[in-house]
Amino acid sequence: MPKRTFGGPLIDVAGAIDMHCHPYPDLFPRLADDFDIVRAARDAGMKAIVLKCHHENTVSRAYLVQRVVPGIRVYGGIVLNYYVGGINPAAVEAALRLGGKEVWMPTVDAGYHAEVHGGTGGYDSQAGGRSQAEGIWVADKEGRLTPGVKEVLELVAQYGAVLGTCHLSPKEIVPLVKEARSVGVEKIVVTHPYFKVPNFDLDTLEEVARLGAMPEFGYCTVSPAWHYAAVEKIVQSIERIGASRCLLVSDTGQRHNPMPSEALRIFAQTVFEKGIPQADVERMIGANPAELLDFDNAPVPSAADIAWARGLVDDPCMSTPGEADPSGVATS
Ligand SMILES: [Zn+2]
Repeated sequence: MPKRTFGGPLIDVAGAIDMHCHPYPDLFPRLADDFDIVRAARDAGMKAIVLKCHHENTVSRAYLVQRVVPGIRVYGGIVLNYYVGGINPAAVEAALRLGGKEVWMPTVDAGYHAEVHGGTGGYDSQAGGRSQAEGIWVADKEGRLTPGVKEVLELVAQYGAVLGTCHLSPKEIVPLVKEARSVGVEKIVVTHPYFKVPNFDLDTLEEVARLGAMPEFGYCTVSPAWHYAAVEKIVQSIERIGASRCLLVSDTGQRHNPMPSEALRIFAQTVFEKGIPQADVERMIGANPAELLDFDNAPVPSAADIAWARGLVDDPCMSTPGEADPSGVATS
């Protein structure tokens, strides 16, 4: 049933996909956990969501949420921070074999992140995990990739996964994208280009987009608390690069931002009102991420799986009266 628009075109997130959100558990304070965020997205009619965590692999988390929240597809991936051993092909291989959809380069542990923020692990206003002076670099000053990176890229190519560039420097991202393309990686996302890191200039971003990487603009970048870029700058970039090559995501989960489904709706609506045609906005939250996730070829849950999920109590963490005594020991 069409939603009421109260007088103007409404960008609906029904059918949309959020490729980037940050639920609890996480070492940063979060607004809501995997279940709350996935349920809210499902209730908004979204068809898929990708869970991201700086501190651990989210593939198994996504699997478990998927088992108990029907009506939306839930995916995970792995961020190559120190918490998983950095550029660690074994961790990448396991994550992809378990169904991971995206391999993210280092975020808060990237060498460039540490250089800009004065150390790894946190942001200007948020302490998270372990802080140390030196972060992880994936390329040297001459743009030569460090050991292990090529093996990670080959795994991403082999599994048809998405490569996210995260908090690397633009000087690392350019050779990384070139190498990724040369080993057969077809899906590359330039994570929040105008966040404090990497903070691309538009010419370099366009160059990377021409190499086959898709800029992923996030609500978090323009959010009231951080506001690293104005929406107008993002609109200008989409106009130059083309909506067929761009993504809109929430990148939320922080307490000062709305829930991912609502952040994505606000962001998409704002980008539309600032001048991007409705069909292009819908493409950036719909067809483009669906293609990256290979959504239309994804196996769907069986009828038995759905029936099982429907039979669960609303919150699987709460015991149902009569099932267990207060000590948590089953009575039968
Ligand atoms: Zn993020």
